[in-house]
Amino acid sequence: MAETTQIEWTDRTFNPWTGCTKISPGCDNCYAEGWSKRSGHVKWGNHPRKRTTEAYWKAPLAWQRDAEAFELKNGRRQRVFCASLADVFDNKIDPAWRADLFELIRATPGLDWQLLTKRPQNMAKMLPSDWGDKGWANVWLGFTAEDQVRFDQRKRFLDEIPAVVWFVSYEPAIGSLRIAGIDPVPNWLIIGGESGPNARPLRPEWVHGILEDCKTRSIAPFFKQWGQYENNPLTGQLNLAKSDMKGIDPHGKGGGLVNGAIVRSFPEGDAA
Ligand code: SF4
Repeated sequence: MAETTQIEWTDRTFNPWTGCTKISPGCDNCYAEGWSKRSGHVKWGNHPRKRTTEAYWKAPLAWQRDAEAFELKNGRRQRVFCASLADVFDNKIDPAWRADLFELIRATPGLDWQLLTKRPQNMAKMLPSDWGDKGWANVWLGFTAEDQVRFDQRKRFLDEIPAVVWFVSYEPAIGSLRIAGIDPVPNWLIIGGESGPNARPLRPEWVHGILEDCKTRSIAPFFKQWGQYENNPLTGQLNLAKSDMKGIDPHGKGGGLVNGAIVRSFPEGDAA
């Protein structure tokens, strides 16, 4: 299982286990389910999850040993996305597995762990008992909000659960999302269109709208990708074929330029 990653907003991925059940419209074209079918590693849905190997679990300890060198070289701390092929706050996980994960996170204070979930309703009961009133210093908490409905359903956790960084992943964006007049809001917001077979379209006005809101609310925006070149406004403006667009906008799937610029910020005080 790969430990390096193509995901633009992190440095590493770590999957303590694999397997998950679809619970939200954003799950419809789940990348990880496709991976599970291709790899045969685990069955998706209502099947037992599979814990990854002991050797694999040692990788973050090696990253920790290099954490100082990484920081010196890059001017920032190393980020670890957990989990890309599962959900940390899945009800179907043996609580002992999750306890082991948090012990690993505790043992790696030089890494910033980015825990992204579609089950924020489980966080309060599944976080460690010493989470405290500020959260652990090396853990960023995030939930996915693929549209306005999901953001409105989940936003209360931004207030209810403390975290040094709270982020929202508006990816795959499958409907509009506006947060200018809404409270609470996260520190960081990732935006991205869906890619792959049966991908649903991302409309440029959704991207421009949410970027405007990020500016108004002082939220760091990270625009990852258009998902497909059909969604990318440059394709129509330049009247180019998809194959030619890759040369002009190679940033992420479907390109990643917004009005000719890369928009990839990180939470305040954290250099790219
Ligand atoms: S929560 Fe994530 S990993 Fe689980 S089914 Fe949905 S998209 Fe896939």
